Amino acid sequence: RSWAESTIPEQILAVIDTIGYKEPSPIQRQAIPIGLQNRDIIGIAETGSGKTAAFVIPMLAFISGLPPFTDDNRHLGPYALILAPTRELAQQIESEARKFASPLGFRCVSIVGGRAVEEQQFNLREGAEIIIATPGRLKDVLERHVLVLSQCRYIVMDEADRMVHLGFEVDLTFILDKLPSEAMAGEDQGEAMDVDSEVMVKKGRTRVTTLFSATMPPAVERLAKKYLKRPAIITI
Ligand code: AMP
Repeated sequence: RSWAESTIPEQILAVIDTIGYKEPSPIQRQAIPIGLQNRDIIGIAETGSGKTAAFVIPMLAFISGLPPFTDDNRHLGPYALILAPTRELAQQIESEARKFASPLGFRCVSIVGGRAVEEQQFNLREGAEIIIATPGRLKDVLERHVLVLSQCRYIVMDEADRMVHLGFEVDLTFILDKLPSEAMAGEDQGEAMDVDSEVMVKKGRTRVTTLFSATMPPAVERLAKKYLKRPAIITI
């Protein structure tokens, strides 16, 4: 199937066309339609498979739909958070995400170790809709209260197995506990749990959480169980 046959919004299809990706990769073909339904996803995929676009495209569709999106309320972001194990991977994700996000008017800022916190704080003050971060540095920044994630509604944990191998499970828990809960607006958590996933999709969710990992060690299982709701599992 080609891009045009997918349910990707028109303005994002135009961006894909400009970037020049002719065909979706297998992970994109599987993950994007499910992601566009605002379902949580566990994706078992390696780097090089095109997984960045597989999570960035649904993420951009989701944040584009957050009401009302005007210049006046942009400072209320960030709306999306991508967590990655290393600075190198975060920067790779940032450059791929920017290709899609910039033409749509969304700004990406990375919060990673090895660069001055002050520089990243300055970038944050300029405003950002999308944060790409390593867990350790993001926790630091949250503790300094220079960034608030209360409006972050689309969360991606990329290479989750590497993040737990590097000892980030506690930091991830710290960060994820600061995000809006999964409950749908106007309903308590208990009711939301009972809603059939189709209905949940139609009603719109307050938070979508996606996890990509090459392997599923117990610590990743724990994170998935705690923070994802009825995830679709995609293996390529
Ligand atoms: P990733 O697995 O996300 O790190 O992507 C690996 C590389 O594939 C990146 O350099 C992308 O720019 C490229 N890429 C991703 N999706 C496509 C696609 N559908 N067609 C062509 N290249 C792609």
